[in-house]
Amino acid sequence: MFKRILIANRGEIALRVIRACRELDIEPVCVFSEEDRDAEYLKQVDRTFCIGPASPGESYLRSDRIIAAAELAAAKEPSLATDAIHPGYGFLAENAQFADQCRECNIEFIGPSAEAMRQLGDKATARTIAKKAKVTTVPGSDGVLEDDDQAFQLAQKIGYPVMVKASAGGGGRGLRIARSKEELERTLAQARQEAMIAFKNDALYLEKFIENPRHVEVQILADTHGKVVHLFERDCTIQRRYQKLIEESPSPGIDSRTRADLCKAAVRLTRVAGYTSAGTFEFVVDAKGKPYFIEANTRIQVEHPVTEMITGIDLIRAQILIAAGEKLPFTQRDIHQNGVAIECRINAEDPANGFRPCAGVIEKFRPCGGFGVRVDTHVYDGYRVSPRYDSLLGKLIVHRPTRTEAIACMRRCLDEFVVDPIKTTIPLYKEIFRHEEFISGKFDTGFVAHNFPS
Ligand code: ADP
Ligand code: ADP
Ligand code: MG
Repeated sequence: MFKRILIANRGEIALRVIRACRELDIEPVCVFSEEDRDAEYLKQVDRTFCIGPASPGESYLRSDRIIAAAELAAAKEPSLATDAIHPGYGFLAENAQFADQCRECNIEFIGPSAEAMRQLGDKATARTIAKKAKVTTVPGSDGVLEDDDQAFQLAQKIGYPVMVKASAGGGGRGLRIARSKEELERTLAQARQEAMIAFKNDALYLEKFIENPRHVEVQILADTHGKVVHLFERDCTIQRRYQKLIEESPSPGIDSRTRADLCKAAVRLTRVAGYTSAGTFEFVVDAKGKPYFIEANTRIQVEHPVTEMITGIDLIRAQILIAAGEKLPFTQRDIHQNGVAIECRINAEDPANGFRPCAGVIEKFRPCGGFGVRVDTHVYDGYRVSPRYDSLLGKLIVHRPTRTEAIACMRRCLDEFVVDPIKTTIPLYKEIFRHEEFISGKFDTGFVAHNFPS
């Protein structure tokens, strides 16, 4: 087993990985930017390394500095090398080159092989893999678009509206809808430019825009001995601007047959891609209940606690064990969906003001608690929210036997939760958890935009 793991991330996910390391008797090592110097979770760790200024490009995205830190940690005590790096999510988590660099330096990258990441991480290539695995994808281009004419012809064939996507996109960025040829023409030019700036890669592809869908994704785990299991689905339909706000499992919007089909499809995709570690396959489900594969996430996801609560399986621990070459200690038959878990992402954003990110000092932070309640957060009284990073302050997860009880629990928790004076998404959630449509379980990805236009 590993003795020491460097965590190449920050915030709540860094703390989540620290906790998993401690329980496995592994020493966590952290890197931090100058902006995060005072973060409380760093005090739990013996070895920490500053890797540069606030800007991610100068710190959390600097693979050279991160690997140097891993080597320095070992140099201080040569008998104890840094065996592995956990990338968390975002930053370098889906960077195949970084995975290669780590392994070239004899440090295990806690994630899939660089090869599997290249195949599934690129969204256009992932569609090709899906076809090989006989999984239905959204009608659209085979691979990336060669030129605008190809896009026009394809859009004509599959019908408007269409979605133009950056092949290297993620985090809800690089997605655009076009409802006519004129719009598509403008969109292609803009999307190309934006993708180049945001992802340093201007490859685009096109797919049919599915009207009023749900977002349902399947969590998988695969070890390096050929065992693949799924851990059922998460429903992440409550979104704003293609970004998730609330996630739950089981999905209230699919029947048991669709659930079984999706889970099987995810296992096939995993096998065809030769994928190992934890991963997620995302689908949109149309208004008639038909699912289409959209993309794979070759990393741990923000909403992984939802699955941990209903299955009782620690996904970060599993990632670490798999990376260390161990066999998964359970089989598919051991994995059950127990009860209902719902998560709210507590973001430092003003929902009444177009989800504008809010920065500044949190003077009072009082998370909720109680039976079946989990709060994953790195925040504390006096925490300074930086405008430089993701606005996620933490995640509130509740776990109850039924959806009705989970909703009641979430309402109570949201009422209890105090974050002052920084604005957060909590007031919006208080309304959502009292909204009839949400309570009924019948809603689509337009729920927030439609019901809360301001
Ligand atoms: P999840 O699928 O785990 O819900 P999100 O889409 O919310 O993930 O992304 C998690 C974090 O990773 C966010 O900070 C997001 O901005 C970032 N992220 C995800 N994909 C990319 C990408 N391709 N490029 C840059 N950042 C990304
Ligand atoms: P990202 O990499 O940014 O997560 P995704 O391809 O996963 O991008 O899409 C993000 C969200 O955009 C989905 O959860 C869904 O709400 C919406 N979306 C993506 N593709 C389609 C589509 N073809 N039709 C309708 N909505 C879509
Ligand atoms: Mg996605």
